[in-house]
Amino acid sequence: MQENFSLQPYNTFGVDANAKYFTEVSNTEELKAALSYSTSHSLPLLFLGGGSNILLTKDFDGLAIKLNLKGISEENFSDNEVFVTAKAGENWHEFVMYCLHKNYGGLENLSLIPGNVGTSPMQNIGAYGTEIKDIFVSCQVLDLEDLEVKTFNLEQCRFGYRDSIFKQKGKGRYVILEVTFKLTRKEHHVKTEYGAITSELKHLGIENPTIQDVSQAVINIRQSKLPDPKEIGNAGSFFKNPTIPLAQFEALQQKFENIQGYPNGDMVKVPAGWLIEQCGWKGKQIGNVASHKLQSLVIINATGKASGKEIFDFSTDIINSVKEKFGIELEREVNII
Ligand SMILES: Cc1cc2nc3c(=O)[nH]c(=O)nc-3n(C[C@H](O)[C@H](O)[C@H](O)COP(=O)(O)OP(=O)(O)OC[C@H]3O[C@@H](n4cnc5c(N)ncnc54)[C@H](O)[C@@H]3O)c2cc1C
Repeated sequence: MQENFSLQPYNTFGVDANAKYFTEVSNTEELKAALSYSTSHSLPLLFLGGGSNILLTKDFDGLAIKLNLKGISEENFSDNEVFVTAKAGENWHEFVMYCLHKNYGGLENLSLIPGNVGTSPMQNIGAYGTEIKDIFVSCQVLDLEDLEVKTFNLEQCRFGYRDSIFKQKGKGRYVILEVTFKLTRKEHHVKTEYGAITSELKHLGIENPTIQDVSQAVINIRQSKLPDPKEIGNAGSFFKNPTIPLAQFEALQQKFENIQGYPNGDMVKVPAGWLIEQCGWKGKQIGNVASHKLQSLVIINATGKASGKEIFDFSTDIINSVKEKFGIELEREVNII
């Protein structure tokens, strides 16, 4: 147990905020011991994975617990399918690479997403046409109300776009201990139609891509478009893409003929990056904070000295200007602490 501990190395924004107490746990017993300490000292809790989806707006006056539970196991499900289970503290991208090395398919489009396996169900991580709900079987959680270990299946997780029960009704109640995925062993469903994957594969001279080729294409695209948090502090997309009623979208089309939208029933998903860019934010810097020059959806700690409050205020300014111009209220994807 450490006191007044800097969380700067534990959040990819690189914000320098302190936790009153900090500890790391590698198994459920250590986690329960830390929880018992927090109960006896009446401390609020903050669970940390890779810290790539949080913004620390102030010092945390409680106990921050870094989840380091490790281990990967597997069980054959059928001739073509395997169940692979990874503990919460496994690094997500290393886990994806582990599966690809074994030629297990299903995770390739999610290559290079920062963070840990245990956090992947929190917002149903997604990229390039895949979300974890597509290959998710179950996750094991510790229920903080009764300290029982429970299992959540796909339906119980209520996955949505960057959403799950763990961000809604179950927020703060469950610690995810491990996650199980169903992956293919032979008959892989290669998904290349999303984003720039097809053109990147063409560029690499690949006609019949394997799952490993798709992963490499995704890695190449991500490295060319997104800032590496090791070099510039950021948490990836700061906002969700808003979904608005078709009628509102059609009214906006009258005013802004270039507006982009992806219809889904009587709703339309609008790219938040486009809205932000239209308000003049792309590449704009205020003090220590900026919107990234290649991807306006990504807010960066431009000087490395930004406080969480500065980043939060910057995001509020973006929300206000998008609201004023388009009448659309952006929602933050990043967890504000
Ligand atoms: C450059 C970059 C690119 C990104 N690209 C994508 C992308 O393409 N798609 C996407 O979906 N996301 C993306 N993200 C966001 C982020 O990587 C994911 O949301 C990731 O799952 C966060 O994992 P983490 O372990 O770092 O979470 P953390 O930031 O450590 O935690 C996030 C939240 O979950 C809680 N938490 C952490 N672990 C647990 C646990 N085991 N049980 C219960 N609660 C827990 C924390 O308290 C916090 O509220 C990107 C981020 C960056 C920096």
